[in-house]
Amino acid sequence: MTGKISRSILLVAVCVLLCCSALFLGVLYAYFSEAQTAQLENSLNLAARGVSQSGIFYLQGLESNCRLTWVDADGTVLFDSEADTQTMENHAQREEIQQAFANGTGESVRYSETMTQRTVYRATLLPDGTVLRISASYATVFSLVMGMLQPIATILLLAMVLSAVLALKLTDKVMQPMAQLDMEHLPEKSPYPELTPLLEKIRGQQREIAWQKQELADKRLNMEFAEQNRQEFTANVSHELKTPLQSIMGSAELIENGLVKPSDLPRFAGNIRKEANRLLLLIEDIIHLSRLDEGCPLQPEPVELYALAEEEVRALKPIARANNVRLTLEGDAVVIDGIPQLVQEILHNLCDNAVKYNRPGGQVTVGVTGAGEDAVLSVADTGIGISPEDQSRIFERFYRADKSRSKATGGTGLGLSIVKHAAGYLNGEISLESAVGVGTTITVTFRGKRHTEEKTQEGD
Ligand code: ADP
Repeated sequence: MTGKISRSILLVAVCVLLCCSALFLGVLYAYFSEAQTAQLENSLNLAARGVSQSGIFYLQGLESNCRLTWVDADGTVLFDSEADTQTMENHAQREEIQQAFANGTGESVRYSETMTQRTVYRATLLPDGTVLRISASYATVFSLVMGMLQPIATILLLAMVLSAVLALKLTDKVMQPMAQLDMEHLPEKSPYPELTPLLEKIRGQQREIAWQKQELADKRLNMEFAEQNRQEFTANVSHELKTPLQSIMGSAELIENGLVKPSDLPRFAGNIRKEANRLLLLIEDIIHLSRLDEGCPLQPEPVELYALAEEEVRALKPIARANNVRLTLEGDAVVIDGIPQLVQEILHNLCDNAVKYNRPGGQVTVGVTGAGEDAVLSVADTGIGISPEDQSRIFERFYRADKSRSKATGGTGLGLSIVKHAAGYLNGEISLESAVGVGTTITVTFRGKRHTEEKTQEGD
């Protein structure tokens, strides 16, 4: 870029220099030509006066730098200061002579064959009918230039060298602010106003790059987090599967080796069934979770939230009764745009927990209400409650606040993770209120999911 700017400046400077020199020469030449002609005319007037008074004697005694020719009325040359009149041809046809005979004055210019000389003629008609002509030869522009070629070339060369040096210095000066630009920390004010749009563009691109870098870093972090989760999940799954299997193996071995008394056989068989059931539940939950992890291909459809809750309450009633827990449902018949399987997972896990982590004589209240565009499902219990430090973790996979009770009641530690995932697909917002020894309320608000027809009916 610096080279290109320098070359451009040099080219402009040389062009300007050549044009100015040509113009200057032209003006000078015109000026001196005019002065020479004026001088020539003065000399002619003086000579004319002298010839009118003294005739040829005046001319013979005259010493002049110019050539004087005296022509008779018929064109015969009477006198010539530089040639022998005998050898001279008749001048009647000469342009300036013809003009002088016709108009009183005449003028013409003739060039030498080599174009190096220009002869200017001026003629005037004398009172006796003769014509006096004066002429002088001058160098033409061409010969002037040719004669001054060497000094002109030297001056031009010097001027070009000077222009080149100045062009380089000027370019350096122009480029310096740009060369000093710190692309990492662009200045608020551009060194040249013309650069402002470019700097703005660079700033925009830098912002974009920073944003993309941040996004990449976030993605990397998420991937690392997901990978860590996956590893933890795999380790947990192996552990969770191993425990009931080991218990089953132990009981089976004892029976196989005849080490179990016949009266104890039902207890051992019951243990095997219980552990196998736990395995089954665990595998079912893992399958549910991995399906949710893969995405939800099911299409939303109108789901009777209240009716589904009613079904769930009915199904859980025997267990609730066995635990001496009162299970009730209240609210309105709300319909949501949802996926029945997911809504059912949410209902089952929340209600099952509320019964499981309750106390004898406790209460579970399932509530279904509509609130404008939203539908709200709440499951409140008067159970053992969850401590504040556990509240932030119970939605993690395999996290159990009350390990012994979870295991004793066949808990997998995956129920609330399933709830969280399923609610995510249904635009559900989960909130948790709990106090140890008082009870827990988990609310899922399905944002904007209330079924359109139902909302219209409510409006009517
Ligand atoms: P689990 O299969 O062990 O019940 P969840 O994911 O459903 O697993 O719940 C995680 C943990 O949160 C449970 O182990 C339990 O300690 C606690 N928890 C869940 N619901 C309740 C509740 N209603 N009352 C008290 N503790 C609860």
